[in-house]
Amino acid sequence: MHETVTNLIQIHSEIKEKIQKLKYSNYNPIVIAVSKTFDINHISHLINFGHLHYGENKVQEALEKWTVPKNENSLIKLHMVGKLQTNKVKSAVKIFDYIHSVDNIKLAKKIASENIKQKKNVKIFIQVNLADEEQKSGVSYSKVSELVSLCKSINLDIIGLMCLPPFNEDSEKFFSKLKLLNDELNLKNLSMGMSDDYISALKYKSNYLRIGSKIFGVRGS
Ligand SMILES: *Cc1c(COP(=O)(O)O)cnc(C)c1O
Repeated sequence: MHETVTNLIQIHSEIKEKIQKLKYSNYNPIVIAVSKTFDINHISHLINFGHLHYGENKVQEALEKWTVPKNENSLIKLHMVGKLQTNKVKSAVKIFDYIHSVDNIKLAKKIASENIKQKKNVKIFIQVNLADEEQKSGVSYSKVSELVSLCKSINLDIIGLMCLPPFNEDSEKFFSKLKLLNDELNLKNLSMGMSDDYISALKYKSNYLRIGSKIFGVRGS
């Protein structure tokens, strides 16, 4: 069995064990295999194994890698987890099923209009910059509610909130904060947890775990 497949199986069993410990029922988080920088030959083992959710952070790279596999298997779902420029939205709506990084109304409007043109309904997460880190994307905590309302008013399918906690800090307090806000806004899904902290994201019922290096290995640049 290919290493990426054994890694994924291992992750799934750790998840199952943790959920049993937490005594959560009806909770089945989805593992998004974040395959950015890896070529499709390295990813194909997971595709053949039947894994369906993949994440990328660059539109052009996603188009090049995923157009053929998605045509061959319509069950594959592709997630945009990186920063999205408005001039790339047309291609993004073409290839992605989910966008996790909406953080401003200009971007939201562009996606809404491409959805109509392409007869698509891309599922959207609002990315929240919980620590107000300058270099990081995401809308600040105090502006989330307003952005969610605006997005809903233009018929975007907002399914939940996403965060990327600061490096070198305990992710849990950020997960906890995002979970509370998500519940307040009556949103159903959370996108949080990566290779180093997905186990702690389970306590807060994150249902989209974005896991890259723990599946595919260390990324080159
Ligand atoms: C790269 C990336 C991931 C996966 O990171 P790992 O630490 O390799 O699991 C998750 N989310 C986002 C937004 C990313 O850019």
